[in-house]
Amino acid sequence: MEALATTPAMRRAGIIEQYRDWLPVTDATPVITLLEGSTPLIPAPALARAIDPKLKVYLKYEGLNPTGSFKDRGMTMAISKACEAGAKAVICASTGNTAASAAAYSARAGIQCAVLLPKGEVALGKVSQSLMHGAKVIAIDGNFDDALRLVREITDEYPIELVNSLNPYRIEGQKSGAFEICDVLGEPPDFHCIPVGNAGNITAYWKGYNEYFQAGVTQRLPKMLGYQAAGSAPIYYGHPIAEPDTIATAIRIGNPASWKKAEAARDDSGGMIDIVTDDEILEAYTMLASLEGVFCEPASAASVAGLYKTAKSGYFTEPATCVCILTGHGLKDPTRAVAVAPQLIDLPPDKGRILETLGISA
Ligand SMILES: *Cc1c(COP(=O)(O)O)cnc(C)c1O
Repeated sequence: MEALATTPAMRRAGIIEQYRDWLPVTDATPVITLLEGSTPLIPAPALARAIDPKLKVYLKYEGLNPTGSFKDRGMTMAISKACEAGAKAVICASTGNTAASAAAYSARAGIQCAVLLPKGEVALGKVSQSLMHGAKVIAIDGNFDDALRLVREITDEYPIELVNSLNPYRIEGQKSGAFEICDVLGEPPDFHCIPVGNAGNITAYWKGYNEYFQAGVTQRLPKMLGYQAAGSAPIYYGHPIAEPDTIATAIRIGNPASWKKAEAARDDSGGMIDIVTDDEILEAYTMLASLEGVFCEPASAASVAGLYKTAKSGYFTEPATCVCILTGHGLKDPTRAVAVAPQLIDLPPDKGRILETLGISA
């Protein structure tokens, strides 16, 4: 039987092969990949109509990465470089998605993985992934910031590789998201909307946009619009938050590692970092699912909630292109989805009652 014809665009190569020339890899680097990246940039016309008809809105659906979040872009680099250096074990602190990704890529590489999670604050899907991939999963009685402090101390003292976004290879891999957006649109968007937690991703996107710009691949730069959850918004308020709180668990972080770089992305691009409330996040989360058919996790919806808030404030005076990063898949947090979605309808197996409930009359 003949092989199916494929075009390069139909094949996922993984971000290291796709953007090899832009990444710190050599022929000696073992490529540990699950063929991450090449995620769709989905037009969102219904959302644009609801938010501000002047805007062209696109959703970068990072939930379609192999483990369901953008963390895979950075993890393929971090684990490949760790293996190149001969590491036998990696560790991270995580609100869930870094752990899921580290666990999967470590399994693939055949190395040990340990993850520290804030107890009771990680969505069920993410915990299940880390466990299934065979990581040592440790839940600590503390928050993400406590977990990150502990893994920094451990990796300072012992030969175990840190794969949080403090690891520069994570940022290198994650910048590929910006390349993909420019490759699809031909130029960067006017505005780049993104949730901000530990602030690695806003840092990575800004780096990617700048590299394309400096190499002459693109002719301009976007304005970076970062959004923190109101209850865990250290950058917005200008001081660490001791007890960050939000339903968007992936961005429940009180002392972000890439704080200064996120401020630089904001200031150098002429953008801003604002806050969105949990209610605004959940409204955007529901709108995305019901208006566009795109299911993301709550933290991801902060980018759309932020765009909505910013548009309502009258910020956009002219037509503009906006890309919202949807950082993780909705199935990561089924508990939240079931809590906010319309309720299940329980009925006996009775055709009359079913028709009546559906509003179909005989
Ligand atoms: C990690 C994560 C974020 C936050 O990204 P940072 O790089 O920490 O700012 C947002 N959303 C999801 C789903 C994540 O997993």
